[in-house]
Amino acid sequence: MSILMPAAFFGHGNPMNALETNRYTDSWANFGASIPKPSAILVVSAHWYVNITAVTAMRMPRTIHDFYGFPQTLFDVEYRAPGDPLVAQRIVDVVQPTYVGLDEDSWGIDHGTWSVLVHMFPLADVPVLQLSINAELPFAYHFNLGATLHALRSEGVLILGSGNVVHNLRLIDWSMPGLGTDWAHRFDDDVRSVMTSDPSELGRAGTHQDYQLAAPTADHFLPLAYIAGLAAASNTPTRTLIDGYEMGSLSMTSYELPGG
Ligand code: ZN
Repeated sequence: MSILMPAAFFGHGNPMNALETNRYTDSWANFGASIPKPSAILVVSAHWYVNITAVTAMRMPRTIHDFYGFPQTLFDVEYRAPGDPLVAQRIVDVVQPTYVGLDEDSWGIDHGTWSVLVHMFPLADVPVLQLSINAELPFAYHFNLGATLHALRSEGVLILGSGNVVHNLRLIDWSMPGLGTDWAHRFDDDVRSVMTSDPSELGRAGTHQDYQLAAPTADHFLPLAYIAGLAAASNTPTRTLIDGYEMGSLSMTSYELPGG
């Protein structure tokens, strides 16, 4: 008898969510409390967007403060979860023939990951690994790589994507707290109808009329491709955990792929 772990995509938004308590952080905490304790957590974070696919393989990954212009209290956050080199090697094996490199000393746990995990698993007692996003490869690569991770779910690994479905920092409008522009709503709504019916069709979002506005760079959108790939691999649609908008051009929508 094996339990299939859920998987999920989280809209992480502003790094200050790490320190705040709001409806989004409450939903992250509730998710963590509602699922079986994972053997490890694998996170695809928007903030490890490089020219190679790699998985963190160090025993004690460092907390990376990959932002500037925020209060010192945010730089003081340390998320001291261990890594798990054996799970890293397992990931390398399970995705073959796709190549994934073992990162022994480069990355760690970035804020796309820890700003969510400080709420979801505040004890930091589950090993955390990150998988980088190869910026040079198309949507289909990320979707298919996500699907190959399916086997890990029955081994107790919680797979998370952390980004934002709509993420356009250039068009941030500080006069729109808690609100989204018309195009942000259009794109987020259309992605949601795919994710809650047939996530295998998520690739079509790339030709959506609002895609260039919603994802001027693909870094925050692509973590969702991994969860869509996982959903397709188990023939299960995702469900919306929470939704909302911030500053006009960010959507905070999160999706859960149920376990079983
Ligand atoms: Zn981000």
